[in-house]
Amino acid sequence: MKNLLLAISGPSGVGKGTLVDLLLKNDDNLVSSVSCTTRAPRQGEVDGVNYFFLTKEQFKNKIAENGFLEYDEHFGHFYGTPQSFVEKMLEQKSVILEIDVQGAMNAKRRMQQTVTVFIAPPSKEALFSRLTGRSTESQEQIEQRLARCEYELSFAKEYDYTVVNDDLSQAYARLKEIIEYERNKA
Ligand code: ADP
Ligand code: 5GP
Repeated sequence: MKNLLLAISGPSGVGKGTLVDLLLKNDDNLVSSVSCTTRAPRQGEVDGVNYFFLTKEQFKNKIAENGFLEYDEHFGHFYGTPQSFVEKMLEQKSVILEIDVQGAMNAKRRMQQTVTVFIAPPSKEALFSRLTGRSTESQEQIEQRLARCEYELSFAKEYDYTVVNDDLSQAYARLKEIIEYERNKA
């Protein structure tokens, strides 16, 4: 059985977090990667668990050392996947990156064994109602996320697999099937 590097993307509110939590809870051979960021920790966030919190200088040094599998800037802060950390975890287990479309494509360029999975909504209406139902974003933030959705959906064809998250248990079963198949592929 191979250890996989899995990159999971999809529009905000599609259910990535829900599906990844289910996978992690039910599979001891799966772990989630920990990203580096230059943003400040939010209340309750722990260094090395939620993120590795770096100064801008530390982050730039790591870029210069070629230390990121991929990195990007969001809302004025840097975020990146630390390559050596991922490689170390891959010696033990399969690793999940929950990552945006650009990040997934960049990761696959650097580590071609990356298995990319796009989680798609059954419809825009369903996505809207999930984002609204989650109650974690303002109306303005929901609109920003929906506006980005079109752009993200246009990348779906670049992925190795697309899973439509309509019925949660079916989407979860399909993800498990993909992982099983890829782990045992020659
Ligand atoms: P993401 O991590 O992609 O932003 P979440 O996992 O936070 O999305 O899911 C957004 C909301 O949609 C949550 O309230 C979650 O419980 C709900 N949800 C996830 N999957 C489904 C599904 N298949 N059907 C209905 N609601 C779902
Ligand atoms: P937050 O600050 O809310 O934790 O994350 C902000 C954004 O950064 C989210 O869109 C999240 O997906 C993205 N992000 C988190 N970690 C990484 C990473 O390692 N690489 C990239 N490219 N984006 C990331």
